[in-house]
Parts: sequence; C-alpha cells; structure tokens
Amino acid sequence: MTAPETRAVIEALSAEGAGPRFVGGCVRDALLGRRVIDIDIATPDRPERVIELLERAGLKAIPTGIKYGTVTAISGERHFEITTLRRDVKTYGRHADVAFTDDWEEDASRRDLTINALSCTPDGALYDPFDGRRDLEAGRIRFVGEAEKRIEEDHLRLLRYFRFYAYFGKEPPDPEALEACRKWARALDALSGERVRDEMLKILDAPGPVAVLEHLKAVGALRQVLPEADGFDLLERLAALEGEAPDGLRRLAALIREAGGSGNDARTVAARWRLSNANADRLAQMVEPPLGIEPERDGGAGRRALYRLGPELYRDLVYLAWAEAMTHMDTDPGFGALLEAVRRWRPVKLPVRGADVRALGVPAGPEVGELLSRLEAWWLEGDFKASRKEALAKLRALVAQVRGS
Ligand code: ATP
Ligand code: MG
Repeated sequence: MTAPETRAVIEALSAEGAGPRFVGGCVRDALLGRRVIDIDIATPDRPERVIELLERAGLKAIPTGIKYGTVTAISGERHFEITTLRRDVKTYGRHADVAFTDDWEEDASRRDLTINALSCTPDGALYDPFDGRRDLEAGRIRFVGEAEKRIEEDHLRLLRYFRFYAYFGKEPPDPEALEACRKWARALDALSGERVRDEMLKILDAPGPVAVLEHLKAVGALRQVLPEADGFDLLERLAALEGEAPDGLRRLAALIREAGGSGNDARTVAARWRLSNANADRLAQMVEPPLGIEPERDGGAGRRALYRLGPELYRDLVYLAWAEAMTHMDTDPGFGALLEAVRRWRPVKLPVRGADVRALGVPAGPEVGELLSRLEAWWLEGDFKASRKEALAKLRALVAQVRGS
C-alpha cells in the first residue's frame, strides 16, 4: 500500500479530489500482516471525475464498470480498482441498482461482512464502523446487519460467508447466519456459473476445506452448487498430502472421484462453472485418468507416463492416486518418489523428426506419422536414452522393415 505505484494513484485522486481511502480486502489483509495483492480504493468522486484526475496525473484509466462506479487505474505494472462510494437502491438477489453517495458509512453498510467493511486513509487512519477489527482478531465472521436480509439482497453472499469463514473463521459459525443460509440455499440456482465458480474454487483452495464443505452440505448449499460431490474423505487426505501447495481444481476432482463421478460429470461441472477449455480438460482427466498410476521401483514406467501426460497432469494424478491408496495403507508405498521424479523432470524430445523420415524416401503422408510413433515407442522403452545417431539407425531399420513387407 506504500509502493510508489500505489502512491501515484492516491496522489492523483487526492489532488483536488475529495479524499480516497483503501477499502475491503487490502485493509483486512494488512491488519493481519498478510501480503496484500489486490488494492481496492474508494472515493466520493464520481467515475468521470476519477478518470479526469488519473489522466491529468499521467495514469491510464479504464472505465471498467462506469455504471457501477468502477474505474481501473494502471500505474506501473499494477492495476487498481477505484470505486465511487455507493448505496443500494434496489436489489434483485443476483444484481442491484446502485446510486452514488459521498457518505462513507453508507458505502460500508452495503458491504457484506464486518471484516470487509473496513477502510483506511492514505496516512493510516482506520475506519471500522462495525467492529470488523475485533471480529477479525476473534475469527468471527459476521454479516453487516441482518444475515438473512443481506443474503436475500445478494445470494452470492451465502457463498462469500463460507469463503471468508474458510480463511478467517476461528469461532463456530454464527447460528443466525447458518439459519439464514439454510433458508436461502435454494436461491443459489439463480446465480451465474462464473460467480459460483470463483467462490467455490477459493473455498476449495482454503487451508481446511473439509470443515467448510461440511457446513455447506449441512445448510443444503452444496447440493445446489455442486451436486456432483458427496463425501469428503478423499479430499481430506489429498489436502494433507498437498500441504503448502493447495490446488482448488485438483481438490474438485477429488470430490467428483469420491462420489464415483465420471469424466462426463467433470465436463458437466466445467460447463456449468464456465471453466476454460484447458481447465475443463484437466478436470476431466483428473477424474477419469488416461492411464493408471502405480508406485514402482525403477521409475521407468513413471518417466514414460510423465512424458505422455506432461508434468502437471502427471503430478495431479500421482496426488490423487496416493490419496486414494491411503485408505488401505499408512506408509507411502512409493508415491513420494514419483512426485520427486516430477520435480527432477526435464522435458525430453524425440531426437528425430518427420523430415528425417522423408529424407529416407518415405513420401509425405500417414506413413511418416506411423513410423514416428513406432520409433517413439522404441525410444520410450529405452527410457529416452537413445542418441540421435542411434535413433536414426533404428529409423532406417524400421523403414527397411516396412519396405520389405
Ligand atoms: P480477496 O482478497 O479475495 O480479493 P476481498 O475482500 O478484496 O478479498 P473482493 O471479492 O475482491 O474481496 O471484494 C472487495 C470488497 O467488496 C469486499 O471486501 C467487500 O467489502 C465488497 N464486496 C464484494 N462482493 C460483495 C458482495 N457480494 N456484497 C457486499 N459486498 C461485497
Ligand atoms: Mg479483492
């Protein structure tokens, strides 16, 4: 928050403006001494005025959501969201009509949780209208105002409540909030897949995802957003194995696998949550692996699988296979060594190409590909050790064989 890029934005907005403040997550995270990544700034100035002030200071301004009061400032390499103070005029559960205001308290009142309603001036004065700091220290996740009313206004807050509970909650969830969640769980259907995905993947990424999923299940919310999941044992073991390197998508795969889901079920979730094609493929392959993973001694089969699948997917499959194997064994039968092999893995490439095949007189066409894949199979069997010279000799032999037949 004190970085030169940040200062430049704050100074631009302060020039003749009404005085910006840091708001939301960055204030919360700074109080906890966590690393602040995204910086949100609020100001009483209207968006057009914000753009004018930024441009006058030589900063780039993008009208991200003028209607809702949001302008993105680019300073150095960093992006800052600058939002005009707002209040809700009418809410619809999935979106709201807003009006601009110059009242900081009004703006804080429309924020979801007490720990997210903090703001802070550039010189460090903290504004905390709902005792968010006390709640943060106690690990108490509380809605600003009445839980039920807040979820009725915007149903996404139900998931946000559990998301922030997953990261900051220490006390058991507040019974009034749980009751409100139970009452509104069915309304989650109305939300867009993207919004649900963002919250759910953050929940899955959290340090102790199982406890939170149990709550989501108990209030009937899991059934709405992820009917493909049921039990959490596999996820529990996976999370323990992952340690400091959690992966939300891999954890999602564990949930679908434990419920007996198929690659098709994974694709259904991916479509509903609008996952990218790459993530959809990865999820489907994690749920329905293209090949089995076995712990082994010499590591040759493992290296071949690594080559075929690539280190990312292979690592995913090792984690999942290990978590699955843990149901019937306590000691590691050799999965740790497979992960070690991923860390040591350097990409290898077949030392001959299509041009080499054609140079031996094979006409361009399907035969070239067939010869190359037979050569590749041989090269894999030999654990990628063949030199280019050896590979060319083998290729010549293969060509002669084809010609002879
Ligand atoms: P993160 O570190 O995950 O970005 P964050 O608190 O910044 O956490 P955002 O989703 O970026 O969370 O939202 C920024 C701020 O906007 C929140 O701190 C909160 O004050 C407010 N906010 C966001 N979504 C809602 C919502 N659905 N209802 C009410 N307030 C919200
Ligand atoms: Mg944020």
